[in-house]
Amino acid sequence: MALLQISEPGMSHEPHKRNVAIGIDLGTTNSLVATIKSGVSTVLANHDGDELIPSIVCYKKDKTLIGKNALKERVNDATNTIVSVKRFIGRSFKDISSELTYPYKFTNKESIIEIETTQGTKNPIQVSSDILYHLNQIAVECIGEAPAGVVITVPAYFNEAQRQATKQAGQLAGLNVLRLLNEPTAAAIAYGLDTKNEGMFLVYDLGGGTLDVSILRLSKGVFEVFAVNGDTYLGGDDFDHRLYCYILEKSNLTQLTDGDTAQLLNMAKFVKEQLSTLEKVAFNLVLSNKRLVNMLITREEFNIISQTLINKAMLPVKKALRDAKLSITAIDEVILVGGSTRLLNIRHELSKMFERELLSNIDPDKVVAMGAAIQADVLIGNRKDEDWLLLDVTPLSLGVETMGGIVEKIIPRNSTIPISRAQEFTTYKDGQTAMSIHVVQGERELVSDCRSLAKFSLRGIPPMVAGAARVKVLYQIDADGLLSVEACEETSAIKSSIEVKPSFGLTDNEIADMLNASIQNAKEDMMMRQLMEATVDANALVESVQACLISDYDLLESQELESINNVIQELKSKIEGNEESIIKTKTVRDLTDKLNQITEKFANQRMDRAIHDGLAGRSITTL
Ligand code: ADP
Ligand code: MG
Repeated sequence: MALLQISEPGMSHEPHKRNVAIGIDLGTTNSLVATIKSGVSTVLANHDGDELIPSIVCYKKDKTLIGKNALKERVNDATNTIVSVKRFIGRSFKDISSELTYPYKFTNKESIIEIETTQGTKNPIQVSSDILYHLNQIAVECIGEAPAGVVITVPAYFNEAQRQATKQAGQLAGLNVLRLLNEPTAAAIAYGLDTKNEGMFLVYDLGGGTLDVSILRLSKGVFEVFAVNGDTYLGGDDFDHRLYCYILEKSNLTQLTDGDTAQLLNMAKFVKEQLSTLEKVAFNLVLSNKRLVNMLITREEFNIISQTLINKAMLPVKKALRDAKLSITAIDEVILVGGSTRLLNIRHELSKMFERELLSNIDPDKVVAMGAAIQADVLIGNRKDEDWLLLDVTPLSLGVETMGGIVEKIIPRNSTIPISRAQEFTTYKDGQTAMSIHVVQGERELVSDCRSLAKFSLRGIPPMVAGAARVKVLYQIDADGLLSVEACEETSAIKSSIEVKPSFGLTDNEIADMLNASIQNAKEDMMMRQLMEATVDANALVESVQACLISDYDLLESQELESINNVIQELKSKIEGNEESIIKTKTVRDLTDKLNQITEKFANQRMDRAIHDGLAGRSITTL
């Protein structure tokens, strides 16, 4: 007789079921979805067999087209066909208005970007969400069930706002977003570099419109983004455009219709891609005016005309190495990511620079999605033995505004995340019951030179003398790079917190500009900060002396009263004055010291009176 089975306590009766999770590379030009099939990370194809899905959405009156079908509408219905939406996500209209000219009707020109389409206004989160939904559907069709979770990749330089918006797009598509993962880290995982114990890797990602260079450090099985650099306006499209201009020149073409331009650009792209494997490519094309364009382009010709772009494409590598203070020999592996790294001249330049072979045996289009799928598989719990923690760094410092518009940095730039840091602050005025917490991002000393991320208030602080409250401000950045801030008054335990959800982000150039400005202005900033601090101290002293004079002026001889008032007047006028900051700081400091000295006797007298009156605990200790 067969033995009956009895399950272990706490175990389910069901046989062990694998959860399916997917990884999505949400690219500027193309997006992909991958999952683990029989232990191997595999990119999934739609029913036409396509793995690369153009990141394009076209809003028609009665339907939404995505991918290849949307791409076809690009020329004829440009206003409703949204391409490269990744450039818009988490950014404001102001951020993009100085960039390229776009064919869209932008409605909201104040904060978050909104585009008017035949289906009404759409923001970048909605457009990205439509792409994510489409990719998830491809997975559902391939796997036969809805994935239990998804990892979405983002560029390493994406800021708070861009990460938050990407995550929201996933949620809006009804996906369970397990984590956002940096694209370079995903590529390193796909190459299995995480199984090494340590190493320094440079990930070179040249896509359709952007170049991202990241240096990753692996130590004790943990990845950390060591440095990032790039060019937000350099990619395969620029090579297409260069070749297109060359074709125009060579065949003496001028005035082209929109349709002809699009046709010729597509041809240029095709020829460029062919030249990655062929020595020469011949093509012919009939324009709308029946003119025939017939040409042969050699790889050598293409290399010559694209030399300037190649040089431009090497600059961020040098900058990233310089930022990380690393020599070329410190890099253990160079990983190629993005379709445009198939360009032979790019490969040639990189291997020349690093004097080594490049890691390119995994398809550069697929490597990010494949790494994301591996990470998703771990996070959904299919590989319990592997306990990964992927680290990242904050691109800019995060701080809080203190009196005088000065920034106190809480989490410095380049801190590895997840991270939490706390600092104590106190009240400025007697009886102050609320505190305004202003979260700012940037490297400069003054709030006005940094970027405001969020503001919130901590209310209900019990009235105390100035400086007695203990308010702990806690900054936490989670593994996705999202910031939450909590303020807690420790004696009363009242709390207030905020998840920082800014509605738009900073451009890459702004980050670079802010960093440059902080270096250039460091000295001036420091002087301004000292002046602000001196002013805050002076004002605080003047206010409390004046308050004491109201209640206890009778303790003073008229002459004493007069000299105190004189110093106060002088101090006030110096604070208002226009002296150069370094001199002004010294004058204000000196006068504050003087006021402290001449009120010392008065403070002692007040103390005696207070003790005498049995009124201990008043703010006399501050004098
Ligand atoms: P993104 O990350 O921006 O979404 P991809 O990594 O998908 O972009 O790269 C798309 C770019 O790769 C396009 O400009 C395309 O022309 C280019 N590309 C694809 N295949 C080749 C090839 N064989 N040779 C050169 N460029 C290529
Ligand atoms: Mg990409």
